[in-house]
Amino acid sequence: MDNYQEIIASLKQRFPEGTVTHRKDKKGVYIPNQVYTDRLETATGSEWDKEIKELDISVPHRYVKAIVQIRIGPYTRDGYGVSIMNGDPAAEPKLIRTAVDQAVNEAFIDAIDTYEMGWKDLAPYKLEDWAGNPALAHLLQSGPPAGVEVGAAPMQSFAVSNHKCLKCKANLTIAEWELLGRIPNLNRESMVYCFEDIPAHLKRKLPEQVLTDFEEKRNNERRST
Ligand SMILES: [Zn+2]
Repeated sequence: MDNYQEIIASLKQRFPEGTVTHRKDKKGVYIPNQVYTDRLETATGSEWDKEIKELDISVPHRYVKAIVQIRIGPYTRDGYGVSIMNGDPAAEPKLIRTAVDQAVNEAFIDAIDTYEMGWKDLAPYKLEDWAGNPALAHLLQSGPPAGVEVGAAPMQSFAVSNHKCLKCKANLTIAEWELLGRIPNLNRESMVYCFEDIPAHLKRKLPEQVLTDFEEKRNNERRST
């Protein structure tokens, strides 16, 4: 395999709009496993493998541990996953199956993560987690999703996030989404506003410097477009 670097680069590419899925319990977002599998298939021309290297099922202690290995050409990467059985697997053997599925899925995602797959798509949702780190700022730069030709649509210099304003329904820019994160005690998952629509009493809570920086950045963007 002489195009390994190219394959790795295409694994990291942005997914199409709408790929990031909200959890049913509203606790965060994820990208479905099928999406990752499809990307691996396309990027490698089906030349990849997934192997369960280790599966440790403990009925007495009610846990399952899995190690999954992904191989692309001669290179492999491992991921691990653990799941707990809530109930008595001796009385209800189905619990074991569910726990194995969960642990293996988690291990797969863990391995996927080492290729930075989906990072660009998840970054706008993970600003407080890891994506707000300046070393990862490049992930937030806008770019076309994989498979979309450059020039097909005008490139936006102020990258747009997947979050919609509650009032005007417009998509927030990444900068607006970041700004919301700077309002103390604001739950960004439920209180989503574009800059114009942030209620005045909330806007007042923004540190002055943060507000000035935002407005300056926005004015510069306007001038350059
Ligand atoms: Zn709005």
